[in-house]
Amino acid sequence: MITLSHGAGGKATQDLIKKTIMPRFRIRNVNFLGLDGLDDGSAVNVKKVGGKFFVFTSDSYTVKPLFFKGGDIGKLSVVGVVNDLSVMGAKPLAMHLNLIIEEGFDTGLLERILDSIGKNAEKDGVAILGGDTKVMERGKVDQLVISAFGVGVADKVITDAGVKVGDDIIVSGGVGEHEAAIIVEREGLNSTVKSDCASLSRVVQKILRVGGVHAMKDLTRGGLSMALNEWSEKSGVGLEMGEEKIPVSRQVRSICRVYGFDPFNLACEGRVVVACDPGKSEKILNILKRGNAGAAVIGKAVKGGEVVIRNRFGGRKILRPLEGVMLPRIC
Ligand code: MG
Repeated sequence: MITLSHGAGGKATQDLIKKTIMPRFRIRNVNFLGLDGLDDGSAVNVKKVGGKFFVFTSDSYTVKPLFFKGGDIGKLSVVGVVNDLSVMGAKPLAMHLNLIIEEGFDTGLLERILDSIGKNAEKDGVAILGGDTKVMERGKVDQLVISAFGVGVADKVITDAGVKVGDDIIVSGGVGEHEAAIIVEREGLNSTVKSDCASLSRVVQKILRVGGVHAMKDLTRGGLSMALNEWSEKSGVGLEMGEEKIPVSRQVRSICRVYGFDPFNLACEGRVVVACDPGKSEKILNILKRGNAGAAVIGKAVKGGEVVIRNRFGGRKILRPLEGVMLPRIC
């Protein structure tokens, strides 16, 4: 039986993907980088276009409510796809969008969402190449679900297995703001927290030009802890993080205190973690800081196989990925 935790981006989601979905879609071909790597996208090496890679990704969006501070389901579906392509090292080119709409859905609302999709796609030079529209009977789907597919082109594909011992780990801004903003909407709280929902395409293109980028990951469901644990496992490295170096806004901290959540487990929709050559980290950090003053070097890749977080008193704990579900339908 599928439960809410299978969609939460944590351990149960990983189990479902690895045990139920992946074994049924196995492709063995040296020119494909596919499901086996469980990366942010898949890639095909097309020798005829000079050895560049097409990078593909797909995602679906069920966020509730459809509009929130800092974004809406339309913006989310564009930046979600754009960000997954970007962290794979690709320049996003085009998308497909499938809309599954509940009978009775307001046309004006749909137009606002489509406008948001158009505006955000245009900003990144992404063509909406196609899609599909379905309507379900009243009560059979909650308002609107968007399923999206995107393609980009990369000179070199960057994967989660690329982190090297000695790398600096940089985050591009405060963590957890998207999920905190959704909590605020759902609970009707009085908070100024705003989703970080934004495209990473431009900033990623800039840091790639600096060089020395070994891995990148956009922080989505499961937050920073899930991303770091995936890196540690796939790259076979340990990660040593400084708790006080990780940027968490005052608003996110107070929401976490009320609900007993760990900010490192909360989703973002516009933040990236970068593992890079320490000789390049100052340049990369400066580029990220121009986009968000909170960008910071938060740790280092070391020998070993665990994600360790140290507090300022020298205390040490293991940062484990999220288990179970905190909040369904955040993206
Ligand atoms: Mg991703």
